[in-house]
Amino acid sequence: MALISINLQDGSVGKDQDLIIGIDLGTTNSLVAYMKDGQAVCVKGGDGKSTLVPSIVHFGPDNRIDVGDIAKEQLVKDPGNTIYSVKRLMGKSYKDIEEIQGYFGYKILDDDTESLVKVRVKDRYYTPVELSAHILRALKVRIEDVLKMPVSRAVITVPAYFNDNQRQATRDAGKLAGLDVLRIVNEPTAAALAYGIGLDPAQSELIAVYDLGGGTFDISILQIQEGVFEVLSTNGDTFLGGDDFDRAITTMILEQLGLTEEALVADKSFGQSVRLLSEETKKALSASAHFEGTVNGKKVTISRAAFEKKVQPLVQRTLDACKNALADAGRTADQIDKVVMVGGSTRVPLVKDSVSTFFGKPVYDNLNPDEVVALGAAIQADILAGNQKDLLLLDVTPLSLGIETVGGLMDTIIPRNSKVPNKAGRQYTTSVDGQKNLKIAVYQGERDLVEHNRKLGEFILRGIPPMPAGLPKIDIQFILNADGILTVRARELRSGVEQQIDIRPTYGINEEEMAQMLLDSISHAQEDMAVRGLLEARNEARNLLLAGDKFLEQNNAILSEEEKAATKDLLIALEEATKSTDKDVIHHAIEVLNTYTTPLAHRAMDVTIQAAMHGKDVSGETGA
Ligand code: AMP
Repeated sequence: MALISINLQDGSVGKDQDLIIGIDLGTTNSLVAYMKDGQAVCVKGGDGKSTLVPSIVHFGPDNRIDVGDIAKEQLVKDPGNTIYSVKRLMGKSYKDIEEIQGYFGYKILDDDTESLVKVRVKDRYYTPVELSAHILRALKVRIEDVLKMPVSRAVITVPAYFNDNQRQATRDAGKLAGLDVLRIVNEPTAAALAYGIGLDPAQSELIAVYDLGGGTFDISILQIQEGVFEVLSTNGDTFLGGDDFDRAITTMILEQLGLTEEALVADKSFGQSVRLLSEETKKALSASAHFEGTVNGKKVTISRAAFEKKVQPLVQRTLDACKNALADAGRTADQIDKVVMVGGSTRVPLVKDSVSTFFGKPVYDNLNPDEVVALGAAIQADILAGNQKDLLLLDVTPLSLGIETVGGLMDTIIPRNSKVPNKAGRQYTTSVDGQKNLKIAVYQGERDLVEHNRKLGEFILRGIPPMPAGLPKIDIQFILNADGILTVRARELRSGVEQQIDIRPTYGINEEEMAQMLLDSISHAQEDMAVRGLLEARNEARNLLLAGDKFLEQNNAILSEEEKAATKDLLIALEEATKSTDKDVIHHAIEVLNTYTTPLAHRAMDVTIQAAMHGKDVSGETGA
């Protein structure tokens, strides 16, 4: 195991590197924390007011980019250029977010495909990774200003339900922001750590983490054994939180004023002041039984009892999710040892009392519920830095392991700093019709292009039955055993053909070389990301060109001559655009093509469905 447990924190990366920061990259707000005199603390902004940085990015004139409170002010004034809730887009394709499109006030490119989402701001196209990197950079600057030294290593938290793609996207965002992301930690795990839960390796406990924020609700059931946190189940609602409480109060205020929702839309500034008053009322009712405010010179009074009656069904929905999470974990409420409260909305007394009653025990709530995840991230960072000596650190992979995909891109399967032993896999497909063999080249390293990484070996999966491109399902598994041997196994799922190799990733590489590979990946992050962006745009364009030709062929009878000619012209323009080295040029050509062909595709689909229905009707009649 010694070969694997190389400590990259040693020496070669400089003095300021002793500090590892903890970051809570949230949907609504983000925070940065560190260990100060043995205590985790969150860092406040320059004004000394708040530890929260709104997770909002505003693109202003003259390429000016603002993050946080300043960006938040632009939400109403300049919605098209103000990006919020980017976390909801991380690692997602258009298909994944189709249903929630209406929620975003900015332009998300919708081409109805499985490629990853992009956001258009002015004439540029941004990935959620790039947008998140802006938020992370702001957090990095915030802590560097306070500590008066550069920081470059971080632990970042993500929801327990985040999949591989979403975790990798978060790592990439860190890298782009100039941060070496040592570990991605589950938010509920961080929250438990903040309360010191799990720090004693002798402890074995069952924990429920109840997280009610501004717009999302999560419940996670964790099993902690010998310092290892296992997520048994998660449940929740990605559109339930404090914003819904605010809306309940808005309704109550409007009732008192004898107005309807339309009044909010008709007068934007009135709408804004009612919304602000609603949140203020809600917060005040967490501390007192009544609240009196004025709006447009008129008095409104809301009691806590009336508020609680109104939001009771919302709270009940969270308890139903808790029930489901317990059932999925195969546990009952009375088996839970500790309940940890996370998120600003858990300050509402009804929430606290209901959760406490549901689990039949007092809840952990002395820490600031907005900060608890970031505090836990700082504690995890401190453990990684080796400052908590009595804690056992599990062996980890020193460099990422992955395979080469189209265009020479590195696709990481086991990210660096993952626990060993480890097993991870992903499904791939072919890019050429009738492809019988597939070369699988295994690489180690942090760069986006395999040519900059270290090749560990390759093999060929032979005997794939000839099928159209995209149809074969090739499952690739990476199995890293406790001795540091990596087995890479490829299997075509339809035919069952299989091939594998065994590799020792740490053979022939020393500690300095590994540290250098890591440093290179951070110093080249910007250019790597640009190359990756360009290659991905070209791949997307190529797929679209193939699909476009097929579309014209299949719908020859449905499309007019004019439509066919226009589509052909746009396909030629896209082909031309793929030669550009500017990804935005390619994205623009993709967008223009999609905008033109989407209505045609819908019409073609309608005609096909009608024909099919018609066919059915006829056969029904004759059969009767
Ligand atoms: P988070 O996403 O965890 O930052 O939570 C933010 C949510 O917590 C927002 O909906 C806030 O209005 C809400 N919140 C903050 N303070 C309070 C409070 N004192 N009482 C009730 N809700 C609060």
